[in-house]
Amino acid sequence: MISPAIRGWCPGAHRPMASGDGFVVRVRPMLGELTPQQARGLAEIALRFGNGLIDLTNRANLQLRGVTETEHDLLLAALAKMGLLDTDPSVEGRRNIVVDPFRGTGADDPQTLIATQLSLGLVAPDLACLPSKFGFVIDAGPDRNLAKTSGDIRIEAAGAQLIVRVDGCATGRAARDVGEAVSLALALARWFVASGGVGADGRGRMARHIAAGQTLPEMLTGDLRPNAVARAPRPGLVPDGLLVAAGFGQLTPDNLVTLAAATEGLLRITPWRMLFLPGLADTAALTGLQTLITDPDDPLLRIHACIGAPGCPQAGGETRKLARSLAKHLPTNASLHISGCAKGCAFPAICDLTLVGRDGLFDLVTRGTPWDEPDRCAVMPVDLPNLISG
Ligand code: SF4
Repeated sequence: MISPAIRGWCPGAHRPMASGDGFVVRVRPMLGELTPQQARGLAEIALRFGNGLIDLTNRANLQLRGVTETEHDLLLAALAKMGLLDTDPSVEGRRNIVVDPFRGTGADDPQTLIATQLSLGLVAPDLACLPSKFGFVIDAGPDRNLAKTSGDIRIEAAGAQLIVRVDGCATGRAARDVGEAVSLALALARWFVASGGVGADGRGRMARHIAAGQTLPEMLTGDLRPNAVARAPRPGLVPDGLLVAAGFGQLTPDNLVTLAAATEGLLRITPWRMLFLPGLADTAALTGLQTLITDPDDPLLRIHACIGAPGCPQAGGETRKLARSLAKHLPTNASLHISGCAKGCAFPAICDLTLVGRDGLFDLVTRGTPWDEPDRCAVMPVDLPNLISG
């Protein structure tokens, strides 16, 4: 019997999370990247064992949905065969590392080396108690591409100098080289555990720990500020390749197969619900695939929509099909959230326009969240284009 993760914990492949449409199984590819062969294999696995849909997560992982308990072991075996599974479930949970997708492609790229060595270091048994949401970010380029990605310990750069910084501190400590950066990051993780950062419930985050008054030892602190924040990534051609967004962060198996055929290189998973294909210099191979976005002005990029009906039992209406039909009616620069219910899973924040499903009809909230008081109630789907184009 599998013990599914409870909410508030990160689901993994070994420890899936139960949801309305079966288990959610998170796949954590090494270095956040897939070879074309792995991408094709994952497409097959999603069709064979899940409902065929693959989510991109904000930790640069992939999620398969609709997996049954009886097929979970077979799914794990298939992932292992593709090199997409840690053999040790506890190591899988700890290997919570997001690495700059725009790093170089050579095996000797410093950020790749840091990620590889850090993965190995996290296997140490004394780090087994790190909370499952405790994460590392490797963002040591000339500009910080992952500044908005949550991470308890961050390996960054100040100019060309590697630094290691904890969440909650504005400055970090210099590291002479890759090896020292990894050692400092692991030392900070050990300090977090030893200084009581992990609560009785197994949870804990670095920023909260620091805010509660814990002081880092002098040998782990420094006064170097990290490099400036990069501009927000947008889909399309970028200097070293192509960024491809997936509408609502969801890929189909066909998408993965097409992307794998388009590149001879790697498919890097980003925390921005996009894939980065290093070295790809045109979009021709992706033309006609309506679920993949390479136009930075595509209105779908301004729409959030949860899985809705029928995938979620709480949903009071269908969401993503509606989102695609409403996209062309959305005023320029406006953002829209279509939520199957007032919980607001897809975007728990203020949006210009929010539609909340209720018994097949929709309530409209202007400049608010799904749980705010609506301005209009029980609008029929057929009337929504006029309402939102306002
Ligand atoms: S917002 Fe509601 S309907 Fe949408 S996924 Fe969350 S619980 Fe389900």
